[in-house]
Order: sequence, then structure tokens, then C-alpha cells
Amino acid sequence: MRIAVVGGGALGASAALALAGRNHEVELLERGTLGCGASAKAAGILSSFAWNDADYRLIAQTRGALGETIALALAAGERAARGAWRSAPSLVVGSGANLPKLDQLQERVERHTEECERLDWRAAAAAFPGLSFRPGDEAIVAQEDGVIEAGDFLAALRARLEQESVTVRENHAVDLTAVRGRFDGVVVAGGAWTKGLLAPIGVRLPIQAYRTQLASLAIAGGGDLPILHDLDHHFYTRPESEGSMLAGNGTQLRPFEPEQYNEAGDPEFVHSVAERVVARFADGGEAAVRSSWAGLCVATPDRRPLCGAVPGQPGLWVLTGDNGFGLMRSLALGEALADAVGGRGAADLDPARFGAAGDAFEMREGYGSG
Ligand SMILES: Cc1cc2nc3c(=O)[nH]c(=O)nc-3n(C[C@H](O)[C@H](O)[C@H](O)COP(=O)(O)OP(=O)(O)OC[C@H]3O[C@@H](n4cnc5c(N)ncnc54)[C@H](O)[C@@H]3O)c2cc1C
Repeated sequence: MRIAVVGGGALGASAALALAGRNHEVELLERGTLGCGASAKAAGILSSFAWNDADYRLIAQTRGALGETIALALAAGERAARGAWRSAPSLVVGSGANLPKLDQLQERVERHTEECERLDWRAAAAAFPGLSFRPGDEAIVAQEDGVIEAGDFLAALRARLEQESVTVRENHAVDLTAVRGRFDGVVVAGGAWTKGLLAPIGVRLPIQAYRTQLASLAIAGGGDLPILHDLDHHFYTRPESEGSMLAGNGTQLRPFEPEQYNEAGDPEFVHSVAERVVARFADGGEAAVRSSWAGLCVATPDRRPLCGAVPGQPGLWVLTGDNGFGLMRSLALGEALADAVGGRGAADLDPARFGAAGDAFEMREGYGSG
């Protein structure tokens, strides 16, 4: 089929690549440049600590496919691809009422045959001297995790798209009604813009865009710190360059419009994240916030992606509903979308699974919150 993919973020680019791999003739249409939307704002953490088995599998599949994507992009001469993946241990820390969440996360990772070490506060302090632990804290550690650098990842995907003869049109804003007549099929992967893209054709899916924030902090040894999810202090961090790390939270679970939200971090967020860093990092008192920003993620009622045929709209598919974890599931979701186009969509990702439910649902987020 001749297929247009609308939206050149991590999900649209992954879908275009998977569709081309199944011998479709694919055009990827992006109104800005590849990866300029939420994908450019992401922390890029890939963590095994998923909140259900299905997402664990999507994350593991994406991690497995990253190596080949990067190797093929490097072979095509895309040097930036080298920086697309950096491995780092990730740990989840909690105490008291949060310990059952650690149990659940640990059980899932171990059941899927990966090692997941459990450390008490003394052992954690010895293993991760850059962090501070108090009596009662416990940590679980996964060694296979790492960071997807969004810019380098998109460069790798761009090289792969070229190898697979996908036509990439940037600065090409799409009106869905116009584009549908020109292709056999259209995939909408517009991130926070998906709702607005579908509105003119009368489609209303159960999705809402919410805002979440990230800050870059100068901190000694930042590049060597592990990926951290702190259940007690409600924030996460990941190593950045040699002397810096990213720290995030500041999530606002209410609907936002992609053309009308503040892309800068709020002063309250910067203040609160700095306090949490002081509490959890040995050199936290010396850390300085360098910059902060906000981006939009797409929530669904069950926190799982929408990946498949749009109900009642022949030749139209959708891939969105990242719920804040789109990069780490991107390559697997691209394949799942290509399966759906081939008539073998996964029922648990089917956009029709909510029936006629509208987009008024209570958004949920939160790491390991089940
Ligand atoms: C602060 C923050 C931290 C995050 N951290 C992580 C993390 O650690 N790990 C992780 O896995 N995920 C993380 N995410 C989530 C991740 O960024 C998203 O899940 C992912 O980028 C979603 O990709 P997407 O392709 O759906 O959306 P986008 O990247 O937004 O792509 C949609 C694209 O559609 C284009 N578009 C819109 N309208 C049109 C039109 N009319 N015509 C053509 N193109 C159009 C846009 O320009 C955009 O490029 C984070 C997000 C934020 C905001």
C-alpha cells in the first residue's frame, strides 16, 4: 500500500520504518523537523521497571531492536547514531509504604529472566556513593537499562528511513482530510496534536495531553550517576554529560493544548526538584539548575498506547498514547502498528477497546503505581 505517516516523532518514525520493512511505500510527513515535538523534550530513560507485563515486553523488544537500528545507521554513515544509546544501571528507591511497589517491580523483572538485585540502605550506599540513603530505604537495581538520546536516536532513524526508501517530508503540515485521498492508508502519530488532527473528520479518541517537566542540573560526577526513580521523593534523574544530570517530575495531570502551554519549567518545579536532589544526592547541596523545560505527553484511560485501526474509518490507523514512556517503547510499537496495518493488530493496544467512551477520563501517571 501507499501509506502516509503523519508526525515525525519517535513513534511516527518507528512506524514508518516498520511499515517500509513490510514493503509498503511510505511517506513520513512532519510539520516541523523530525523529532521536534515531545521527542525532543524527553529524558530518554529506558527502564525495565514497567508497571505491567505487556509494557515490559514492549520495552525489552525496543531495547533489543536498538542495537540493530544503530548498527545499520552507522553502516549508512550516520555518525550521530553512535550516541543514540548509553547503558546505565537503573534503580528504584523507596521505603515504608512504597516497599510493596518495589516487590512488584522486582518480581516482574526477575520473572522475565533478568537479574534484579535488592539492596538495603547500607548496601545501596556502598554501591552508589553519589546517592544518600537513610535507614529503612531499599533499592532494586536493573543492569540492562540505559538512556536513549532522542536527537541521536532520531538521526539514526532518519538514516534507516533513507535506507528503506521512505520519503521524509519536513516542514509539511498535514490536513488529514486532504491527505487521505492521496494514499491507500494513513497513520496518525501526531503526539499531543493527534486529537486536533482527528477532530475535523469527527473522530474523538480517549486521549488527553498532559504536561510534564524536566531540569538539567550541574552536579559533580553527574555523567556517572545511575538512572534513579525515587518513589519517596516523587522524582527521577538520569546521567547527562560528565558534570550534569537531568531531573524530572512536575507532572500536571490536566488537559493541555499543544499550541498553548508554557514550554519553560515552572519556578515551583525548579525549586522542588532542587530540594529533592539535596535530599537524595551526596553532592546535592552543591548542585545548580542550568535549565528547565516542559513538554506534553498523551494519556489514555488504561495508560497503555493506542496502536491500530481507528474505529469506523477504513484506511486510517493511529499510534499515540505514550503516557510518558514513548521512546522506550517506540521501535516495538512501530512493529505493532505495522502488524495492525497487516490485519494482525494486538487486542490490548486496539484503539477500539474503550468502546464509545469519550475523552473525559481521569488521567493517571506515576512510576510503578500499578
Ligand atoms: C519532560 C519529558 C520527559 C520524558 N521522558 C521520557 C523518558 O525518559 N523515556 C521515555 O520513553 N519517554 C519519555 N517522555 C515521553 C516521550 O517524549 C514521548 O513518549 C515521545 O516523544 C512521543 O513520541 P510521539 O512520536 O508520539 O510524539 P512527538 O514527538 O510529539 O511527535 C509528534 C509529531 O507530530 C508532528 N505533527 C503535529 N501536527 C502535525 C501535522 N498537522 N502535520 C504533520 N506533523 C504534525 C509534530 O510536529 C511532532 O513532531 C518524556 C516526555 C517529556 C515531555
